[in-house]
Amino acid sequence: PIVLGIETSCDETGVGIVRGHTLLANTIASSMDEHARFGGVVPEVASRAHLEAMAPTVEGALAAAGLRLSDVDAVAVTAGPGLAGALLVGVAAAKAYAMGLGVPLYGVNHLAAHVAVDQLEHGPLPKPAIALLVSGGHSSLLLVPDVAQDVVSLGSTVDDAAGEAFDKVARVLGLPFPGGPYIDRAAREGSGTAVAFPRGKYDDGTLDFSFSGLKTAVARWVEAREAAGEPVSVADVAASFQEAVVDVLTRKALQACARYDVKDLLIGGGVAANSRLRVLAQERCDAAGVRLRVPRPGLCTDNGAMVAALGADLVAAGVASSSLDIPADSSLPITTVHV
Ligand code: ATP
Ligand code: MG
Ligand code: FE
Repeated sequence: PIVLGIETSCDETGVGIVRGHTLLANTIASSMDEHARFGGVVPEVASRAHLEAMAPTVEGALAAAGLRLSDVDAVAVTAGPGLAGALLVGVAAAKAYAMGLGVPLYGVNHLAAHVAVDQLEHGPLPKPAIALLVSGGHSSLLLVPDVAQDVVSLGSTVDDAAGEAFDKVARVLGLPFPGGPYIDRAAREGSGTAVAFPRGKYDDGTLDFSFSGLKTAVARWVEAREAAGEPVSVADVAASFQEAVVDVLTRKALQACARYDVKDLLIGGGVAANSRLRVLAQERCDAAGVRLRVPRPGLCTDNGAMVAALGADLVAAGVASSSLDIPADSSLPITTVHV
């Protein structure tokens, strides 16, 4: 079956089309240029941009796939979590397409979709798998018996999300928003061992994370150097901060694999695009005999293909489709894979 996926939880209007786990189109319009100068996504601006981009992005995806709207067999949409007004645009559009076409609607969890998307690149997810989900608003370790039906939370951040920490530290360093990709790039010229920044919850025996202490430590360190009139190497600070984050993320991910005796680790979400995280995770997985799956960077950040991929899994699993009056749920919990 051909599944059309619609994503509007943040600033990207994403429309993906898949046939099973075959990716046919992944078209994205972003309103990030309009938010960047505010140093964060402005919800009202995002909603309006989604409204304007929705129909053209669907048409663009259909054209890219060489399909017509009437070829679509099911519509999947991010029902949450995310910005309420932004979600609402995608959910309303998805309902209209599903109703107009007379095809089933699947309201899906954005976070589960960040996990499911890897299958478009690397095939069916082994059951069970451990997933490290690291994005702009979330950081969690998940036990995934079956991404279409069952996701168990093993631990999550007690304060900032990993992506949020990247974005806040980037601001301290005078880098543009969103800062993750800029820190990644700056860090390549610096040393990850230049500054020994703290690693929160490193040895606490839980599978939780904490990044706000690290963020504060970086800000204090930079302030102290500037107050003393000493130069700050953006590259060294970026690399050392990044090293602290990816050290903790990979350490806890492998602890989760060991604790639950799972040999397959998947990393998903926008921060999974980080080049150092990908390298260190591979090293540590190799050492532990764990197979690692990370989607290519373009599938890690928000897109419509991830929603279509999870929709295709729901269709294949014979899960009942969603009612046409599902709400957008800005705080949908990760354990609710579909609504
Ligand atoms: P959520 O998925 O929790 O709702 P979101 O959808 O806003 O949040 P994503 O698009 O999944 O977030 O990820 C965006 C985050 O990923 C931002 O914080 C961004 O800085 C970060 N990010 C993107 N690329 C990189 C990178 N190369 N290195 C580190 N962080 C990155
Ligand atoms: Mg985004
Ligand atoms: Fe996301």
